[in-house]
Amino acid sequence: MVQKSKPSDFGFKVTISPRGVSRLKDGHVWVYRSDIVLARDVPPGSVVTVTDHRSQILGSALYSSSSQIAIRMISHEPVADFAALLRQRVAEAIAYRETVVHDTDAYRLIFSEADFLPGLIVDRYNDILSLQVLTQAMDAELVREALTSELTERLRPAAIVERVDPRVRQLEELPLRNSGLVRGEKTSTAFTMNGVQFHFDALEGQKTGAFLDQRENYAAATRYAHGEAMDVFCYQGGFALHLAPRCSRVVGVDSSRPALEVADRNATLNHHEIEWIEANAFDLLKDYSSSAQQYDMIVLDPPAFAKSKRDLDAAMRGYKELNLRALKMLRPGGVLVTCSCSYHVSQADFLEMLAASARDAHRILRLAEVRGQAKDHPILLNVAETAYLKCVIGTVSN
Ligand code: SAH
Repeated sequence: MVQKSKPSDFGFKVTISPRGVSRLKDGHVWVYRSDIVLARDVPPGSVVTVTDHRSQILGSALYSSSSQIAIRMISHEPVADFAALLRQRVAEAIAYRETVVHDTDAYRLIFSEADFLPGLIVDRYNDILSLQVLTQAMDAELVREALTSELTERLRPAAIVERVDPRVRQLEELPLRNSGLVRGEKTSTAFTMNGVQFHFDALEGQKTGAFLDQRENYAAATRYAHGEAMDVFCYQGGFALHLAPRCSRVVGVDSSRPALEVADRNATLNHHEIEWIEANAFDLLKDYSSSAQQYDMIVLDPPAFAKSKRDLDAAMRGYKELNLRALKMLRPGGVLVTCSCSYHVSQADFLEMLAASARDAHRILRLAEVRGQAKDHPILLNVAETAYLKCVIGTVSN
């Protein structure tokens, strides 16, 4: 069970190994369980003071009794009033978005470590906030109360909903909990990004949402859009809907029928005609490339193939197959927009795979843009895990 003590109750101490200390000195904010030397009687989810083996204080952290990431730092100083710190961090996260987010009422408001609120994700979809709690510390009642009241006071949302990933709760040894309303009554709305409208339904029927991290890449891809376009792994139509106004024909491909049903409702909302194909993208691209189908623009935005380092080789083969086939299917002057959201695939790995794909497809790929995640998903340079999305836009010639 997670402690029910006050968030200001920070009297617990955790001692870490020299390897843990050097990790923190390098600017990282995690310490793994294998680097915990002493954590006597520390309740799950508490705020702890972190020290080295000489009892020198390194700062304050949130403790998890079950995760491999035992410690997530929250401050270099001892924290006297955790609730006040949470409120301040929420305010700072909101203020940051005001400077970097444009042309949308849907964006990530709080991105865990990158907003110094480890274990918390909050997305805004117009007047509904969607909250995800990923650690024991962020699940404590008093923490939830501080967060939701600060969000409510500052943003006055119609509702706050919580999206629960049962697997995360199991790993954190937290009691089961259902997704649902935390505040307010409203569970569906519409949101707009770059002038394109989307349905949002937080709870009922087919849950919707968006890959907000791609928002700036949608706008970028739009600038190259022309002719016949295919959006592969289209989900609810993010790229396809953006490309439609500038293309003569748009096809969206996904293996999920529910996702395509929402994509079609989104197309109607924006008065576009888009062909949706329910298929396995690997099979479809194989068929289309061997029957010499040609397009002027192809978007590849597959799910994360490398969930862990172990999957890396198989993941790279998957990316290569998709990119090779897409490159073969592009007309001269055609545009490839290709993405990877696997953290374990570095930008260098991804570009190397693309180079090999272009070579094997006997195509010249000229890079126009090498992009990443939207600015509302900030990257902490010393916390490599905060950077995960790659999006490359290139033009193809023979
Ligand atoms: N481009 C989308 C996000 C894609 S998420 C956007 O911008 O909103 C990845 C998508 O890949 C999911 O919708 C999932 O249903 C789909 N998918 C996963 N495996 C697939 C496969 N083998 N073939 C086709 N689609 C697949």
